Amino acid sequence: MSIYDKYEAVIGLEIHAQLSTKSKAYTADSTAFGTLPNTNISPISLGHPGTLPRLNKKNIEYAVKLGLAVHADIREHNEFARKNYFYADLPKGYQITQDKTPICNNGYITLFPNTDQEKKVNITRIHLEEDAGKSIHDQDPFHSLIDLNRAGVSLVEIVSEPEISSSDEAYEYVTQVRKLVRYLEICDGNMEEGSLRCDANVSVRLKGSTEFGQRTETKNMNSIRNVKRAIDYEIKRQIDILEAGGKIDMETRSFNAVDGSTFTLRSKEEAHDYRYFPEPDLQPTRVTTGYIEEVRETLPELPNELYKKYTEAYGLSEYDANILIESKPIALYFNEVCQLTKNYKAAANWINGPIKSHLNKNAISISELEFVQPKDVADIIALIEEGKVNNSIAEQKIFPEKVKSNATALEIAEKNNLIQEGDDDAIVAFVKQVIDQNPNEVERYKNGEKQLTGFFMGQLMRVSQGKADPKKANQILREMLN
Ligand code: ADP
Ligand code: MG
Repeated sequence: MSIYDKYEAVIGLEIHAQLSTKSKAYTADSTAFGTLPNTNISPISLGHPGTLPRLNKKNIEYAVKLGLAVHADIREHNEFARKNYFYADLPKGYQITQDKTPICNNGYITLFPNTDQEKKVNITRIHLEEDAGKSIHDQDPFHSLIDLNRAGVSLVEIVSEPEISSSDEAYEYVTQVRKLVRYLEICDGNMEEGSLRCDANVSVRLKGSTEFGQRTETKNMNSIRNVKRAIDYEIKRQIDILEAGGKIDMETRSFNAVDGSTFTLRSKEEAHDYRYFPEPDLQPTRVTTGYIEEVRETLPELPNELYKKYTEAYGLSEYDANILIESKPIALYFNEVCQLTKNYKAAANWINGPIKSHLNKNAISISELEFVQPKDVADIIALIEEGKVNNSIAEQKIFPEKVKSNATALEIAEKNNLIQEGDDDAIVAFVKQVIDQNPNEVERYKNGEKQLTGFFMGQLMRVSQGKADPKKANQILREMLN
């Protein structure tokens, strides 16, 4: 048994999600990403004296959506608080947040379906707050630069209970949260651009122990994979220290993506005193039951519900269902195809197979698939079901044409002479041709090598150019050989 097996990890994640509102949390400044530095600003976001914040109502709507999606309690009486600290990218000298009255409490995320067993990770709280600006220390050798475009942008912070027990579970948790905010269309979920950020609180303890070990908090992972790497590194680092007789310092650490390590950013020994107090410039906000119900009406079908529908009502495999729910546009597209065909398995195969690989090859999204609309997929499936074409002709000959052409699948099949030969006489002629061309194999077949059927079928498809209805052909072939 290795020393690492003696310990177990305890992980709690804090996720900041930038809400995709058009204007900032408490001002009308634009939130557009990638504009020139310090252009999306105003006297309010710059903290000029005498200016007053005003709450963007979309914040409440988006936070309620998220709360409902994670089965949380939504608070009726919401207060805002000032969290006071000094930093150059925080021009007001305080952040407006929710201290004692987070808008959501007691939610959970189910780490199903990608981990072995269904596991619930409880969400302690979700609260609204605003982002700080960005300090840039690596562009000018003598100065730090400040971009305040981000100052005041709406955020929700999602705080989990320390109930995640491995880096794989953490990976799954962040994946689920990202999928949810994307389905809800409240955040673009882009970790590279920082619109979704995850801080990992990690501690370790001897297996069987009931007390928590000292935790560290690691920041600056710009992908879900890097969240996993940072946690793996931290678990090992902490166990190594404990095994060597040392103790873990309470600190904030940063992740180095180059070598996967973490390093000290600042000590957390003395608890910060942020001197929270109620924000005097914002009225408390009441979230009524009626309002919550209105928002509930607008919720889309969520990934886990779709997964259930696909596996239970549509009889798809877990694997297929998982791929389909990965992205909302794909799932919606699949839903539409399923309005037009009852062959759900074929619909899933077409989307997860030829369509996905076409999208990947051309680096386009499903909305850019101009000529292959859900109706066209249903048409192709129907052509196959009616025995007009077989699957490989559809995949290799019709689909590649269809992506470039406005013609229907049937028109393409007819124009290229691809309609399957289901006519008995025609198939008999093809079989005759194959038998005449392969006297040796026929002899061997008659002497008992029945596995040569596959060879004959291959030949038959060749001479018929793939157009012989395989079922009929197989039957006629056996009859004629015998
Ligand atoms: P802070 O302001 O210090 O970051 P928060 O309450 O915002 O505190 O977040 C604490 C996070 O740390 C939560 O996600 C919680 O689950 C997690 N956490 C608390 N104690 C531990 C521990 N011993 N090991 C790992 N994670 C922990
Ligand atoms: Mg925190």
